[in-house]
Amino acid sequence: MTGTVSALRVHDLEVDLVRPFVTAIRRAASISVVLVEALDGAGHHGWGEAATSWQVTGESPASVRAAVEGPLSEVVVGRRIDALTTLGSDLAIAAFQNSAARSAVECAIQDLAAAQCALTLAATLGAHRQSVRTDITLSATNTDDLVAVAVRHVADGFTMLKVKVGAGHDDRQALLAVREAIGPSIGLRVDANQAWDVDEAVRITRFWESAGLDLDLLEQPVRARDLDGLAEVTARVATPVLADESVRTSDDLRELISRRAATMVNIKLAKSGGLGEARRMAALAAQNGIGVVIGCMMESSVGVGAAAALAASLCETDAARTHDLDAGLWQANPVVHGGISYKGPDLYLSDDPGLGIHGLVTNSRSIVDGTAQW
Ligand SMILES: [Mg+2]
Repeated sequence: MTGTVSALRVHDLEVDLVRPFVTAIRRAASISVVLVEALDGAGHHGWGEAATSWQVTGESPASVRAAVEGPLSEVVVGRRIDALTTLGSDLAIAAFQNSAARSAVECAIQDLAAAQCALTLAATLGAHRQSVRTDITLSATNTDDLVAVAVRHVADGFTMLKVKVGAGHDDRQALLAVREAIGPSIGLRVDANQAWDVDEAVRITRFWESAGLDLDLLEQPVRARDLDGLAEVTARVATPVLADESVRTSDDLRELISRRAATMVNIKLAKSGGLGEARRMAALAAQNGIGVVIGCMMESSVGVGAAAALAASLCETDAARTHDLDAGLWQANPVVHGGISYKGPDLYLSDDPGLGIHGLVTNSRSIVDGTAQW
């Protein structure tokens, strides 16, 4: 590997979703996509994405731009691309928190490094598979709409549905109606996005258990900081409990493991601050019998592509699990040429170097703040 990083560029886009995305804490008809492009001066490009969320990472497109163009550029511009061992920790020292911005820069540099070697990003991570399987998320809504969407997704080939709950609908009966409509062979997950207290979480989950709903997992039932509450739910229900907002980094994961607060963890690049920390978390989870799901934020196929490469590189038990990488299916229009592709629930990595991204879709009318450099 040779060369240096010559520049970072930030691209802001506003992308319509195919349908509104509704959870217990947000509703969105479009998303702000913030891409970071790394260049080496020899014609190679690397791509990363910063998925912004005030509720999860506390970042905005403006804060990402400020972090990337300021302290994070100072770390990487002019840096040799064969000196990446400490990249993640150097970025973390340069900008406290700002995990999505740091992840975007780290992914862009890793993608650039892989492209220079004519290897896929997944190959550089040690992946042995070309595809991973994803669930599909169903927004929180009324029972009739939920059932209709569930049936449509199953007809499209999806084998695992993840239902957003906790937004004020009758979740108990809605999930039973969904199960009745889709039959017993389709996996069902629920994600409360921190909406419940302990007693509510236990009461609702036990209701589903008694009714034979056969949930694959229960995701983040209580507040992110309430690890004692999460541990209590985990102890009192038979359904596996997946921690999402409660765990961002390996320090959080260590604490979760020590308190036996969940049986699984949802690892997302926007939370961890990049691929390096996410891989440390996956290894820690595997060593401690914690199941790993690789997830994404509501982001474009760029960020999902890096997360999918990570998923493909996990130990076989975790790699083979159904992951939570459907965000690329929610974009009304692609933002880049190349990259990942979906066939029903199967997400295929590109065979081309790096993430296989060949550039922005430049005729997109959704560019909010073009850098005029591309
Ligand atoms: Mg979640």
